[in-house]
Amino acid sequence: MRDSFKHLTHKMASLRVMVGVKRVIDYAVKIRVKPDKTGVVTEGVKHSMNPFDEIAVEEAVRLKEKKIAKEIIAVSCGPKQSQETLRTALAMGVDRAVHVEVTGKDYEGLGPLQVSKILAKLAQEEDVSLVILGKQAIDDDCNQTGQMLASYLDWPQATFASEVNLDDGHLKVVREIDGGLETVRVKMPCVVTADLRLNEPRYATLPNIMKAKKKPLVKKTAADLGVELAPRIEVLKVEDPPVREAGQKVDDVQDLVAKLKDAGRLG
Ligand code: AMP
Repeated sequence: MRDSFKHLTHKMASLRVMVGVKRVIDYAVKIRVKPDKTGVVTEGVKHSMNPFDEIAVEEAVRLKEKKIAKEIIAVSCGPKQSQETLRTALAMGVDRAVHVEVTGKDYEGLGPLQVSKILAKLAQEEDVSLVILGKQAIDDDCNQTGQMLASYLDWPQATFASEVNLDDGHLKVVREIDGGLETVRVKMPCVVTADLRLNEPRYATLPNIMKAKKKPLVKKTAADLGVELAPRIEVLKVEDPPVREAGQKVDDVQDLVAKLKDAGRLG
């Protein structure tokens, strides 16, 4: 083995990866708005790991299987139940987990700003070379945390990744952009956010779910990390989308044109 290659493989094999996993209302649940319009009903509703975060975890696990990563740490910020999400990540192949407990009013105001500050502190504390997040959380649809995190850490970012490869000590990332694909090369440490086509996440098997119960999970608070949780935005109201009007049947094209003219939709 050439010396430079040996050095590179050694350096890469010591790579520590952090993934962010958010507990969200399961994608298959029909969302109900609270009668007072202050938010959506969460009590008694099935929650799961944000689907894009499953993709992020899968990518990290594949990097470990390819011996590119040495250790994977999953982080979830939220109430006690976030530990269930972390256990799922551990069962998928993550090595250890950090639960940053955020509850009550703080949890109501928790968003990309606070989460990215928490993740930035942990990324430094854990000395990671790569953070992989989902491109967006399906509950708030913010698509901001990865970008803000890269900015706090002053690291390069490769968002909407559909392919990640190691390239001479850098990461070569194919990104999904409007109307095509863009390939970028970023220096590590960096932040990557996972798009839908990056991979197909594995299911956690029963033996791995059992093993995951014994993997280390530590609990921290935002205060332990010196992060202020005060929200900067106030949700004024949450409403259901407008109900779609019923359609109309038309006999032929002339009928369609006449009806559109009647409705003032054709000049
Ligand atoms: P967002 O910017 O809210 O759309 O979230 C983008 C990504 O940031 C998610 O897919 C997660 O990977 C990460 N993230 C957001 N909120 C949390 C959280 N509470 N705990 C852990 N990771 C999070």
